[in-house]
Amino acid sequence: MRARDDYLRSHPFCEHTGCARIADAVDHIRPLAEGGDKYDPENFQSLCDPHHTEKTTQDALRGKKRAR
Ligand SMILES: [Zn+2]
Repeated sequence: MRARDDYLRSHPFCEHTGCARIADAVDHIRPLAEGGDKYDPENFQSLCDPHHTEKTTQDALRGKKRAR
């Protein structure tokens, strides 16, 4: 949680290409479910709420497909 707060403070804007809204969340670029590192700042990206929702949905869909 701490690392995420620090990351958000140093990356206050959404890192989605073409988006520059204020970020609301720190996302794991490679989801933890896919072996992403929870504490590695290299695996963090700041996202605004809509883009975080979109990313999370895509990750979940991918996870479901893989499980099948
Ligand atoms: Zn965004």
